[in-house]
Amino acid sequence: MRSVSLRRLIIVPFFALALITGITMYFVATTTMSNIANKVSLQYIHEVENRVQERVRSFMAPLLRIVEVNQQAFLARPNELNDLSKAAIRFHEQGMPYRQMTFISVATSDGRYLASVQTPIERRSHHLATNFVHKPLTMEGFNYDPAVGIGSKRQQDAEFTYDPRVRPFYQSAVGSKTPVWGKIERYYGYEALGATLSAAVYDDNDTLLAVTATSVALNELDNYLKSLEIVDDGYLFLAEKNGDMIATSTDTELFSTQDGKPKRANLHEHQNGLFRLASEYLEDGAYSLSLDGRDYLYHVHPVSFEYGETWLLGVLIPSAYHENLLSDYNRSSILITLGLFIFISLFGALIAWYIGKPIQLLSAATINKRLENIQALPESISKVKEINALNQGLKEMADDLSDVMHNLEAKVAERTLLLQGENENLLETSVKDELTNIYNRRGLKQDFIRVVGVEGEQKHNVTLVLCDIDHFKVFNDKYGHGEGDKVLIKVAESLNLYIRTGVDIVARYGGEEFVLVFSNMSLDHVLERLNGIRQELKNTELAGKERITMSFGVAHHESSDSIQIEDLINKADEKLYQAKNSGRNKIVS
Ligand code: GH3
Ligand code: MG
Ligand code: MG
Repeated sequence: MRSVSLRRLIIVPFFALALITGITMYFVATTTMSNIANKVSLQYIHEVENRVQERVRSFMAPLLRIVEVNQQAFLARPNELNDLSKAAIRFHEQGMPYRQMTFISVATSDGRYLASVQTPIERRSHHLATNFVHKPLTMEGFNYDPAVGIGSKRQQDAEFTYDPRVRPFYQSAVGSKTPVWGKIERYYGYEALGATLSAAVYDDNDTLLAVTATSVALNELDNYLKSLEIVDDGYLFLAEKNGDMIATSTDTELFSTQDGKPKRANLHEHQNGLFRLASEYLEDGAYSLSLDGRDYLYHVHPVSFEYGETWLLGVLIPSAYHENLLSDYNRSSILITLGLFIFISLFGALIAWYIGKPIQLLSAATINKRLENIQALPESISKVKEINALNQGLKEMADDLSDVMHNLEAKVAERTLLLQGENENLLETSVKDELTNIYNRRGLKQDFIRVVGVEGEQKHNVTLVLCDIDHFKVFNDKYGHGEGDKVLIKVAESLNLYIRTGVDIVARYGGEEFVLVFSNMSLDHVLERLNGIRQELKNTELAGKERITMSFGVAHHESSDSIQIEDLINKADEKLYQAKNSGRNKIVS
């Protein structure tokens, strides 16, 4: 297994830990932050929407209520339609609290028309208009008289022929028992839009008696959107489902003139590119829009009123707005991460220094297994208690070990001397020849006593033969000492074949000389065996297909007189000498 340094072991995990913390924090800071920014933006949009919606509803509520009240009134008291002065008082009073309520009117089925009129943009006047007082179907303006309703005629108002029954507000209501919304239209002569709600009045026989209508000027809503303080570069709009604009927070006009006629602004062809882009998404929901490298969060929300009218409220805010707000927090969290990262790494390095450095010192001292290096370590190597204890322990052990080693060396020297003596003794007492594993000269002498018997009970006869390899030096010189040794082993084996085991003796007398001792064997038999040996050698192929011969000197002792081995050896040696001198490969007895 690959080993790793302690310092790396400490620093690397610390570093990894710091890195993981850093990355995690960074992800939390960026990904989560952008998610949070998105959510905050949506939340913000919802709040803006709620405010606007509430405002729009409360703005439109009087319109609905006035129409309903008047429809109910005419249904309950159809007589009021005969003399409209009561209605004139009611209409005027209904319009008083609401300066944007442009028309509160009734048109009877016989063509009479009465309206409380307020100018749509500034409330320059609040008066009445009728088409029946002086001439039928001729519109005139009247001042309001609280006592009788229709007061004096207003000279400033132009007279013109007017039949309400051909007007859209009248015709749209016919056929429905519930109020009906008219088309949003620009007021003639004013840069203002109006929304109209009409309600038909039928008697019990389902005969149409009249249509009552109310109209509200919507420029207040446009003013309201413009007055709202929303985020920089944020936009709001109110539009009809077809994209025709009702109100907007931008300074753009809600009308333009085309071919001399005023035309309403529409999202689909708006001068503001962002509105044009937004016009592609007019279904309820949230969208991400991108224009000229800027991203916007866009939300469309329907604003519905009773009797089937639905407008769209759009809110657009730059995505970067809340991201930027959060980026301060983001920046500080990244700084904290960085600080944490540096702190953890420094802490790791410090621990590595306190632990790793002294352990490195210890390991360096032990690396080449020299006790002196350990003994040379300073008394204190670290501020860490345990490491210092380890150092002390190691130094003490080194001291002890060094003492033990000294003692051991002395003991070993003593023992070696002793062993040398014992070895010499052993060598002396050894009776076997190392190479051939037959008796050596000492073995021969010891066993000779067994063969000849103790004095007084000597064996009948003893024959000692000295056998010497012929020209062995030449063989050695030719084939080397190793091959020569093999010959000596071979010869010992061959000699062993021709003695009686446990009875006769075979021994290496020295060099290439061997001794055979036969007891109680006639000389003839001995000679027979020696010839057997010669024959055996003749048949034995040695190194280089070489064969060797041997010369034999035989000393035979027949009497019961005691005999010394030395005498027999001397006698056999003399005979061997003769054998050598007379040409070798001979037995001389
Ligand atoms: P010869 O006896 O026939 O007169 O001739 P020789 O060459 O055999 O006798 P010499 O006494 O001149 O030489 C004896 C040789 O025997 C010398 C030595 O190389 C060899 N010899 C003696 N002991 C060993 C031994 O243990 N191993 C080997 N390989 N050779 C040995
Ligand atoms: Mg010799
Ligand atoms: Mg020899």
